[in-house]
Amino acid sequence: MRVINPKKRETQSRAKKTSKFLLLIPAVIILGAAFAVFKLTQSDSTASDTPAQTQSAVTQNIQVAAKKGTLKTFTGEEFKNLYNNFAYPNTALISEKTPITDNEAADDKIREVAVSRGYQLRGAPVTDAFVNVGKDYELQQRAAQPWLDMVEAAKADGISIGLTAAYRSAEDQKTLFLGQLNNSGISPQAIGTGYYNAQISQILRTTAIPGYSRHHTGYTVDIACNDMPNSSFEFTNCFEWLSANNYEHAKKFGWIPSYPKGTENQGPDPESWEYVWVGVDAVTE
Ligand SMILES: [Zn+2]
Repeated sequence: MRVINPKKRETQSRAKKTSKFLLLIPAVIILGAAFAVFKLTQSDSTASDTPAQTQSAVTQNIQVAAKKGTLKTFTGEEFKNLYNNFAYPNTALISEKTPITDNEAADDKIREVAVSRGYQLRGAPVTDAFVNVGKDYELQQRAAQPWLDMVEAAKADGISIGLTAAYRSAEDQKTLFLGQLNNSGISPQAIGTGYYNAQISQILRTTAIPGYSRHHTGYTVDIACNDMPNSSFEFTNCFEWLSANNYEHAKKFGWIPSYPKGTENQGPDPESWEYVWVGVDAVTE
């Protein structure tokens, strides 16, 4: 009979673990250094975006301190420029053409109609740094706490906001779009001719194609108003709370409206319930 000495096995596995751990140390150092370089590059690019910050280090410090001051006021177009051009951390542009219908001619036509409506390719998370913010809704780490803080602030003012959407993968978006396309009864073979462009555009009023949804980034939320669930969002007390005084409450937590008044050609029809996180610094003087 073979007797396995449990002590010996334990020692062995511990030795194995220790050597694995030792191997991890340089890896952690390398990753740390890479992250530091990444952060430096990031702050450089932020600084070059803001001419006021490209001055001396002293002035920069003053600027940073001053940033905790007043929230900027944005026109609709300025909000739109910010959410379209903001360098969302931990994302990379979805560059490849994500298949939609398995018919290339149809997919090209659908993308053409989408782009003519103002849809843009969006970024997707590079790493899996998600936080579950409740009911399996996931947001990128940087946006999660600001979202929870905004919910708390609303609650303190007697307003109950929740989520109906957060992060969504291109694959999930494909399922959504195909569901709508199937309901319309249009066959993918017929789409490539361009004959059904108007019907495709109709679907695109509410549903993005994969690769073109703001929800891909993990920084976008669709907000529900729990106080007035049956009202159109822009007529709820929640919308009033978020949008008053140039979206002061939203901006305080780094959130900006995805479809502010006065902007057009943004892909879907205006969605007053959709907000995008860009961080407090981006909206502060
Ligand atoms: Zn949305």
